Amino acid sequence: MHIVFIGPPGVGKGTQANMLLEKHPMVKISTGDLLRESIRNQSSLGIKAKGFMEKGELVPDELVLGLVQEKISTPEAGKNTFIFDGFPRNIHQAKELDSILTSLRSKIDLVIDFTMDEEERIIRLTGRRMCPKCQRTYHTIFAKPKDDTLCDVCHILLVQRTDDNEQVIRQRSVVYWEHTKPLLNYYGERKVLANVDASRPIEKVFSEIEKLISSKKKK
Ligand code: AMP
Repeated sequence: MHIVFIGPPGVGKGTQANMLLEKHPMVKISTGDLLRESIRNQSSLGIKAKGFMEKGELVPDELVLGLVQEKISTPEAGKNTFIFDGFPRNIHQAKELDSILTSLRSKIDLVIDFTMDEEERIIRLTGRRMCPKCQRTYHTIFAKPKDDTLCDVCHILLVQRTDDNEQVIRQRSVVYWEHTKPLLNYYGERKVLANVDASRPIEKVFSEIEKLISSKKKK
């Protein structure tokens, strides 16, 4: 079974995916995380992707698709449950993902569309802080670290993502409406789409996601 998480920046897709991983044997494929890792490693892909990410633009498809292909084209792929977080981001990526999965005799079974008001998303994202070592995320109001500005686990100074400032967040939202929103029709036609109101408390959203997954499994 494979699941796609779709939604504008700041709806909590990554948080919910991480919560699923803690409870279920699943594999998360977050293209944002993979791209940030490439930047940290200063790989040629990371160097090419950095400028697009800092401006809130999509990284060119060929770079992103290469990363995803590498992650899922393994002999175990058919046995794994993948959660695609932030991928696909446009119709071309969705079609490419379908064709990779078809070649692995697999398919997308469930697409969850996360919705939340834009101003609330901006408050969530501008307060987000991240540990540069373990990548855990915190929030200056909603999920404060125990020691003010330090990671609870690594005890090092938390940082803010360079694309988590208001101007870039608004641009990421514009890109979402233009390129990613059309995917809702694409998956709606395939009868795999479900919607979740992500403005509710994290635990409530999580239990709804778990219910959606288990009802898909029963079908
Ligand atoms: P995220 O961590 O999902 O918010 O992604 C951060 C940034 O990485 C985005 O604003 C894009 O610049 C880039 N990115 C992540 N996933 C993709 C994708 N599937 N296609 C193109 N660019 C992506």
